[in-house]
Amino acid sequence: MTTLAPHLGAYHGVHPAAPQTDYERLVWRDCAPRVDRIRIREHTCVCQRIAYELCQAGGLLFIRRTYRSDAVLTHESEWLRAADGKRLWLRILLGQAR
Ligand SMILES: [Zn+2]
Repeated sequence: MTTLAPHLGAYHGVHPAAPQTDYERLVWRDCAPRVDRIRIREHTCVCQRIAYELCQAGGLLFIRRTYRSDAVLTHESEWLRAADGKRLWLRILLGQAR
């Protein structure tokens, strides 16, 4: 794996598991600026080409996916109630959904 953020040194955040063979394919949409303030509650390691963030906006949660290549492409999942959003976050980390 190439290192995209060498300044991180030895520190790494969470690396999501590889997708399982029967993983759920999520619908990723273009980001729409719907609210003024989004809080990032958790994120995966930025050394990876695709990084995921668990974002909170008011009482709703969604996942933001950032793909770094020549350009940076950002998409987001549907917005979910807190319990469903946390469940989706875990499913992404476990490779059950992407
Ligand atoms: Zn890493």
